[in-house]
Amino acid sequence: MMTMKSQGKTVLPGDALAVSEEFLPGKNAYDADGTIRALLMGTQVKDLAQRETGVKPVVVAKMPSVGDVVTGQIETAQTSVSNMKIYYVNGLPSSAGFVGIIFLREERGGRGMRRTQVKLGDIVRATVVSTMNAMIHLSINEPHLGVVATLCSNCGRPLSDEGGRAQCYECGNQEDRKFADDFGRQPIQP
Ligand SMILES: [Zn+2]
Repeated sequence: MMTMKSQGKTVLPGDALAVSEEFLPGKNAYDADGTIRALLMGTQVKDLAQRETGVKPVVVAKMPSVGDVVTGQIETAQTSVSNMKIYYVNGLPSSAGFVGIIFLREERGGRGMRRTQVKLGDIVRATVVSTMNAMIHLSINEPHLGVVATLCSNCGRPLSDEGGRAQCYECGNQEDRKFADDFGRQPIQP
C-alpha cells in the first residue's frame, strides 16, 4: 500500500492544521469544532492517501546526567580546560550537539601530572560528574576514560598504543596523553 506523506511546518499545541472537511485528525491531533488542531508541539505530517493530518512530536534531546559515559571530540584544548563536542551518550549516538567541559587540573595521571592530557581533535571517552548551571562537567580520571583515538601531530596518521604512549609508525613521533585503557583499539567503542 502506498501512502503519500508530507512533512510541514513546526506547530505548537492548539495550532490549526486543517479544516475537518479536508482532513481527519491523525496522530497527536484532534478535531475541535471543524478544525483539526495539534495536540503536541512538533512537525505537521499530512497523509494525503488517508486524508489525515497529525503531528510528529519534537524529540527533546535529554541533557546527559551525572554518571553517564559520553564520547566525543576535543574542540578546544588549553592547559587547564578543554571543551568536548559530545557524539555519544552511554554508547548511543547523540546529535543534540552538547558540549562538555573537562577541567584538567583536577585530573591525576598514573605518574603524576601529565603535560598534555588531551589535544585538539582527540576522540575522548569521559564521564559526567556535574551538570550544575546547565554546564556538563566531564572527568577522564578513570582507567577506562580518556583518549581513545588520536592523530599524530606531526604527520596526521592515527597513533597506536606503544607501552602507555602513543606512537606513530609512520614518522616515529611519540605523544603523551591520558589514555583510556582501550586506546588504539579498532573500532572505537563509544
Ligand atoms: Zn607521525
